[in-house]
Amino acid sequence: MNLLMVGAGLSGAVIGRMMAEEGHDVTILDARDHIAGNCHTERDAETGVMVHVYGPHIFHTDDAEVWEYVNRYETFLPYKHQVRTTSQQQVFSLPINLHTINQYYRKTMRPDEARAFIEEVADKSITDPQTFEEQALRFVGPDIYEAFFKGYTMKQWGVSPTELPASILKRLPVRFSYDDNYFFHAYQGMPENGYTDMVERILDHPGITVKLSTRFTRDMAEAYDHVFYSGPLDGYFDYESGRLGYRTLDFEKFTETGDYQGCAVMNYGDVDVPYTRITEHKHFSPWEEHEGTVCYREFSRECGPDDIPYYPIRLMEEKAMLGTYVEKANAETGVTFVGRLGTYRYLDMDVTIREALDTGRAFLQHAADGTRMPAFAKPPL
Ligand SMILES: Cc1cc2nc3c(=O)[nH]c(=O)nc-3n(C[C@H](O)[C@H](O)[C@H](O)COP(=O)(O)OP(=O)(O)OC[C@H]3O[C@@H](n4cnc5c(N)ncnc54)[C@H](O)[C@@H]3O)c2cc1C
Repeated sequence: MNLLMVGAGLSGAVIGRMMAEEGHDVTILDARDHIAGNCHTERDAETGVMVHVYGPHIFHTDDAEVWEYVNRYETFLPYKHQVRTTSQQQVFSLPINLHTINQYYRKTMRPDEARAFIEEVADKSITDPQTFEEQALRFVGPDIYEAFFKGYTMKQWGVSPTELPASILKRLPVRFSYDDNYFFHAYQGMPENGYTDMVERILDHPGITVKLSTRFTRDMAEAYDHVFYSGPLDGYFDYESGRLGYRTLDFEKFTETGDYQGCAVMNYGDVDVPYTRITEHKHFSPWEEHEGTVCYREFSRECGPDDIPYYPIRLMEEKAMLGTYVEKANAETGVTFVGRLGTYRYLDMDVTIREALDTGRAFLQHAADGTRMPAFAKPPL
């Protein structure tokens, strides 16, 4: 078959590779002038630091097949993600752990004492939390909520935590140990030569043709037996039912010499600091040495028509619009919507690869059975 992948990010690359290995002719288009989508990495010309161009990307997973897959194309080196936050003129450890609690309250509590203490300060008058704020107050009380959740959440989502659903905070967001490893997954690492190098190797197959700086339009589909579309779902339908809401990010890049902040990510919890965090990219490659350093100040705001969509908002209004687009998509033939934009979901890289592998296998099975490949291998709602 002649197959088209729209988008040279992980979704398009992984499905494209599988199809090429099965002997199909694969064309991959991307509107950008580079491969790897939002995971794109490149060396900064001035300092030589490997920069995560669209924001920091840490690979972490419990999925052994996905871990084996990425290691087939790139060497992953050990990396432990640690994050700090500057709040109320102090630096604290994140995720909130025994160190954070003891430091914040100037105490020396052991785990059971801290657990009892947090239960004591939690707002037990809230019995049925409806909002993010109520849920946080019920779990951790007003001090920790103000210092670590309120300002950051307002800046990240552009709304008060009183307008966000309680479901965002599902579990008590506190650890009663000194473990400050941001992720709990069995496998965690960073690609030795960056994610773009990895995607380049995935795409390195005689059955794959990559065309960059080429925007997909629906008339192009006629030349192909099937399209895998990893662009924005609403964009496929020319936004005819409205635009799905996203947050976008602005990165203010600056360079310094030496080590600017001593860690990869420093959050800023206070609402009067306009940015949410600063990332210092050389800490994502701790095995490299550079005299200079590259940092991004990260600002979050509503996504306009010409901005890059980053985080899907997925509140009530957006879910209703999503329902309309899912109906339209289900009525299409010859196209499958994949990836973070095609299904309007936040997907970590490992989940993106898992879904791409499953989608590719489902397509091959449908082709073998002579049955129709659905518009979504994984329903977005
Ligand atoms: C700020 C941020 C931080 C993240 N950090 C992490 C992290 O630490 N760890 C982690 O596991 N995951 C992280 N992720 C998630 C990760 O970015 C995604 O899992 C991954 O990018 C999804 O790949 P994709 O191929 O589905 O989409 P994308 O990477 O977005 O690729 C889609 C591609 O399609 C192209 N495209 C769109 N429309 C068209 C069109 N009409 N014509 C041609 N091309 C088109 C785009 O240019 C893009 O290159 C993060 C995401 C964000 C937003």
